Order: sequence, then structure tokens, then C-alpha cells
Amino acid sequence: MSFDYDLFVIGGGSGGVRAARVAAQGGARVALAEEDRYGGTCVQRGCVPKKLMVFASEYPGYVEDAKAYGWEAQIGEFSWSAFKSKMHTELDRLEGVYRNILGNNDVETFDARARLADAHTVELSDGSRKTAKHILLAMGGWPMRPDIPGAELGITSNEVFHMDDLPGSMLILGGGYIACEFACILNGMGVNVTQYYRGAQILRGFDEEARGLVSEEMQQNGIDLHLGTNILEMHKEDDGRIRVKATNGTERHFDQVMFATGRTPNTADMGLQDLGVELGRKGEVLVDEYSQTSVPSIYAIGDVTDRVNLTPVAIREGMAFVETVFNGNPTPVDHDLIPTAIFTQPEMGTVGMSEEEARDHGPIEVYATSFKPMREAFAGRAQRVLMKLIVCADTRRVLGCHIVAPGAGEMIQLAGIAVKMGATKEDFDRTVAVHPTMTEEIVTMREPVRTA
Ligand code: NDP
Repeated sequence: MSFDYDLFVIGGGSGGVRAARVAAQGGARVALAEEDRYGGTCVQRGCVPKKLMVFASEYPGYVEDAKAYGWEAQIGEFSWSAFKSKMHTELDRLEGVYRNILGNNDVETFDARARLADAHTVELSDGSRKTAKHILLAMGGWPMRPDIPGAELGITSNEVFHMDDLPGSMLILGGGYIACEFACILNGMGVNVTQYYRGAQILRGFDEEARGLVSEEMQQNGIDLHLGTNILEMHKEDDGRIRVKATNGTERHFDQVMFATGRTPNTADMGLQDLGVELGRKGEVLVDEYSQTSVPSIYAIGDVTDRVNLTPVAIREGMAFVETVFNGNPTPVDHDLIPTAIFTQPEMGTVGMSEEEARDHGPIEVYATSFKPMREAFAGRAQRVLMKLIVCADTRRVLGCHIVAPGAGEMIQLAGIAVKMGATKEDFDRTVAVHPTMTEEIVTMREPVRTA
């Protein structure tokens, strides 16, 4: 049977674009459909604009520090509109880069929504049909709003990059990556930020000591964090503000409410179940270790599979898919020991097991130190950092490394190499400290603070 293409990719985000490009470079005939903007969540409404906002939000702190270091300095007003327009120009540029990557590699693109018609056929929103030997689902995810009265009054991370003005006050709901990052960003930009999280501590699943310190620092920086608190209902007042009734018995007014309550895989109305593509409870596409779905010609990568929802992981999954399907080299995706960073202020960088998780796997030693870093201490800031290693008492391998510090995202990338290589505590000890730095503590902790 002859097909229009060897591969049809649905979704022009990081994972889909990478898979399309690499397959096309290997000689495959490839097409890709994207209904929105090229670059997907990471480039258009996630990592990239978020990081630009992190940078923008840090300047008031730098100016305060500059004064403490003897500079005459004063920060003026922040112009959200000037910043926003520059940010969107940059996102337009990046969209162009993504389009060029596809065009330069002879990937045919369709600016259209695609859904599946059968195991080898895609139907585009203009009604045309395209056939392909393999179909790759890379549609990503979408922010989820909780099911509460008035939920339509709030925004999500999709809209936060497009706000007309910065609100005077904002309530952020959630305690995950997005909620905590935006609480810090908006607080830094001068918004009066309140955060409600339903659980006992933000950043569930991460090392308890590390998330405790992030939580403490966020509050010290002025974020009004309420744990064990959820929204019951929301109403719009005549003056435009939003009245929020919460589980802690309060009713408060906010100019804006943002939901950061998780993301749902983009699998609705795709024709997947009619074809027998199995979905999980959240609507995620179920795949095996080679990203193959229950229909052999259909594969899925990235957030639509809800495995580890991070850009570099989607890219890896895309590369492994091409290696498996087009290069005859079955390559499972390695999801073990993925370093990650949460761009709060201070940042958290983490790789491997938390202390709580490691404790359940066998005897461990915990090495940790928390201190005031030189730069911030001199500037009179109360900020503390944390360096922590979890070590297996039997094999001596470092099972987890957790850093809460300015720049922790940069630090954990490098620590991640050692941990991924299976470094032992003694390997860390043998490494000479770089002095004076914060991270030197990671190789100078001699005695465990506890064993478990
Ligand atoms: P997360 O799943 O990380 O967090 C969702 C948060 O919302 C949790 O605190 C959850 O609480 C809470 N929540 C869920 N449902 C409700 C509800 N009905 N009412 C109240 N609270 C609720 O999702 P995010 O949206 O923060 O981020 C999505 C993913 O994007 C992340 O998991 C991550 O993989 C990725 N990401 C990565 C970033 C990075 O690498 N720096 C940055 C941003 C996103 P509970 O804990 O109780 O379940």
C-alpha cells in the first residue's frame, strides 16, 4: 500500500518538531500539522516566556543588592506593556525559527487541526485527508481549571503572558511548578500575590526539606501563602474585582485569579478511542517503552502521554521514536534520573530520589547543609540556601541531589551528570572544591546529618 507520507506528526511543539526534523533528515517523507503556533507550550506559553518573566522579575532584587554593595541605585517603574511587547516579538522570532527548521528539512506543514480518521489517515480541519505509514501524536497538554462555581473568571498560564495590565493583586491556586514559579515572578514584578494550596506543603513529591525551604523563602519574599486552603467559589463584583470564598472560611477580593492546577493531555475529539488507541484516566495516550500506542502504526510522545512532562524529555522521546521506527534500532526512552529545576526565587534544582523516597528503598545517609550565601549575606538578605545529598549506605551511590539556591537550575545540570554516571559519595569527596562558591559545599560535607 502506498501512503502520502512515511510519517505524519500531529503537533508542532518541541517533541513533534524534533521527531519530524530528524526523520526527514534521514530521508523519510514527513508532514506535520499544527493548529496553533509553532513551538508549542515550551516556546509559546511555557518555558521560554516564563523564563523571560523570571529574568524581568529579578531586577528589583538586584537593585536592592547594588545599594547594599555601595552603588547609588534606584529602580523605576516596571512597564509590563514594554516588556510584554518585546517578549512577544521574541516568541514570534522563535516561531519563525521552528517553521524554518521544518521547511529547511522538507517537512510539509499544514496550519490546521488534525484528527485521526483511521490507523493510517489524518483528516485536516479543511476536510482534506492525508495518509501515512506512521502517525505520531505530539499534541501536548492544556491547563486544567478546577470544577468550581465562577471558574471562568480566572485565567491560566496560557493567558498570563497576554494580560493587558499587571493586576494589583492576584490569587494563584495550586502548589506545583507553575503556581510556585508564577507566584515568585508576579511578586517580583510588584503584584500583591496570594497563593492557596490544598495540601500541607507546596511542591508535593519533591524533597521535603528542599520544598520547606522554598516555601519559607517565598513567604519571606512577601508571598501570602495559605496551605491547606482551596477555593470554594468565585463571583465578579461590580467594580470588576473577584470575590473568592475559600475553605479556610475567608472571603477575599482579588483583581485577578490564576489557576495552576495541572494540565490535561490534548486528546479530546481526536478520534483516538474510535480507532482503539487506549487512553488512561486523565485522557493521556498509553504507550509502551518505545512510545507505541495500542494501534501499531500510531505512536505518541511528550505531554500527551503524561509520562514526565518536560520539554527535554519530549525531545528525547521524539529522537528515540525516530531511532526505533526509521533507523531499525529499537530505543526505549530512559526516564530515570532526570534532573529538573523549578524557577522559583530561590530556584530548586533536583535529581534523583528525595530523602523520603530513598528511605523506603534501603538504608541511607543524608548529607545536608543550609547557610546564608556570601553574596546575599553581604547585601543583608536573610536568604538561606540548601545543598543536600542522599547516599545509599550499602553501595555509597548518590541517589539524590537537591539544591535550593540562586542558580540551582544551572548547578543541577552538572550534578546530574555525576548522579547519572552512578557517582558515589567518595567520588564527590575526591573532587576538589571550587572556592569561594556556594556549590563547593556539595563536595565538602563530611559527616551525615542523619541516617535512616
Ligand atoms: P502540577 O501537577 O505540578 O501541579 C498542580 C497543582 O495543582 C498541585 O499542587 C495540585 O495539588 C493542584 N491541584 C490539582 N487539582 C486541583 C484542584 N481541583 N483544586 C485545587 N488544587 C488542585 O501542575 P502544573 O500545572 O504546576 O505544571 C504542569 C507540569 O508542567 C508539571 O508537572 C511539570 O511537569 C511541567 N512544568 C515544568 C516546569 C519546569 O521544568 N520548571 C515549569 C512548569 C511546568 P496536589 O499536589 O494536591 O495534587
